[in-house]
Amino acid sequence: MVTVSSFVLIATALWYSVVSAAETQNCSSVAAIAAQTCQQLESSLGSTIVQTQSSGSEYAIGANFAWSTFSDEVNFQPSCIVFPNTTQHVQTAMKAIFENKADYAVQAGGHSGMIGWNTVQNGVLISFMNMNSTSYDSESDTITLLPGIHWGDATSALQQYGVAPVGGRIATVGTGLLLGGGISYLSPAEGYAADNYVSLDVVLVNGTLVTATADNEYADLFKALKGGGNRFGIYPNSSSEALLAALAHFIHDTADPNAGTFLATTFRTTWENSTQDIELDVILVYNGTEASFNTSFAEFLSIPYTSSALQALSYLDLLNAVTFPDGLGTLFGASALTGVPASTLADEYLETYRLYNNFSTAFASSTDIAFTLLDFSPVPKSQIQAGYEKGTNPIVPPLGTGGYFEILFQVTYAEGITEPSPDVEQGRQLWISTAPSTPGLPFFLNEADANQQILATYGGYEFLKQVYAKYDPTRFNVQHTQGPLGL
Ligand SMILES: Cc1cc2nc3c(=O)[nH]c(=O)nc-3n(C[C@H](O)[C@H](O)[C@H](O)COP(=O)(O)OP(=O)(O)OC[C@H]3O[C@@H](n4cnc5c(N)ncnc54)[C@H](O)[C@@H]3O)c2cc1C
Repeated sequence: MVTVSSFVLIATALWYSVVSAAETQNCSSVAAIAAQTCQQLESSLGSTIVQTQSSGSEYAIGANFAWSTFSDEVNFQPSCIVFPNTTQHVQTAMKAIFENKADYAVQAGGHSGMIGWNTVQNGVLISFMNMNSTSYDSESDTITLLPGIHWGDATSALQQYGVAPVGGRIATVGTGLLLGGGISYLSPAEGYAADNYVSLDVVLVNGTLVTATADNEYADLFKALKGGGNRFGIYPNSSSEALLAALAHFIHDTADPNAGTFLATTFRTTWENSTQDIELDVILVYNGTEASFNTSFAEFLSIPYTSSALQALSYLDLLNAVTFPDGLGTLFGASALTGVPASTLADEYLETYRLYNNFSTAFASSTDIAFTLLDFSPVPKSQIQAGYEKGTNPIVPPLGTGGYFEILFQVTYAEGITEPSPDVEQGRQLWISTAPSTPGLPFFLNEADANQQILATYGGYEFLKQVYAKYDPTRFNVQHTQGPLGL
């Protein structure tokens, strides 16, 4: 159980850029442009804020912070890293990047599974490592987050005020979560994390600073940033089948938003000494009494289990309850499934698991893989409604289908593996291309493969395209930084 008194998000001073991919120039000219931009930035901002491999003590930390690089030393060495302390530093950096047509990337918590989205070769990396504070204004009941803070640190700092941000479920994840919408333990009651924005300070692609709110002239941008991504400013046995059915029924039938703060069900396969260890972990979170917990999760609790750790936790303790090893090469794949009524068979859930299990069995003797996950993140109807009530977002999940699950298939490589292996990659892509999904449901940008067309699954895709055309008319970001496909 979690006890949180009141919580409101959130974010001012979240810098956001309108972004994207870059392949129009050859490598040497791209490198030369980046070097020139770095030189220019070093002269205007100084060598503490702008660091190169040879000049800065924080460079190595910044360059090695991204999860998805596999071999940081070999694959991604940014030409320089800008460590802004103020919004103005961000504006200066973005203006120079834009004017020089340099490639760039932005990094907050570093947890993206998309190679090249949060670091860059032959380009400028903007790292928010040093803009990492949070504050709470009791009068307006709003939390201000600087973009470099991690959810555990923010929650820890705010605990004294009896409030918590609607943020990630793992303490080390960063604010980039908001740009994909963001799923929190509090989401069933409060909507996607991004549905709780109050105002956003946004540095546009050309360096201009704007403040976007739900009802000012940047309302379109405000909405686009609630899931549009960075281009705008877990063996089959009877328990697994019973668990999959409980999931499908839960998301179809649950109507209690407090109860709803349930979450992440994980089929986790770990490899040690080439031996597979298969776990089915279910985390059930309820913001309320134990009696309500027992009622809401009755079907789950009826399934035989080998161990349980039911306890009342503070919100902060909850964030720290599940830990992941840092710094291992990780890749994601996404799908989405709506629920089915109780007593109905959950065929598509079983198929999703069967495909996952095929993958894990095929690589049973692999020493390349540390673990795989199949994870079901709930988006109950109450969460969708909260988003509509709070001004809507570009994800626009359909209200008619009830709740649904965002499904994550994650492969995390073993320590020392410096690039994805072709056969594992082939198996991963097979899951992505064949996993069933319910037509009309949006996929989750934060937990997808970089080559999946996530934005096109959104109800607000056309809206996002219009906003992108408006704020980046030269399509600079599509050419110069990596991000979601489409637009
Ligand atoms: C262990 C683990 C647990 C996770 N748990 C959750 C969860 O509970 N809920 C959930 O919703 N997701 C979760 N995710 C997915 C996570 O939200 C995404 O990977 C998210 O993109 C990470 O944000 P970040 O700031 O840590 O990472 P980063 O890699 O630094 O940033 C992610 C993306 O956002 C861009 N970006 C970041 N900040 C800015 C900015 N200020 N302006 C412009 N662009 C920016 C980056 O360029 C990058 O493309 C989890 C991932 C992992 C690995």
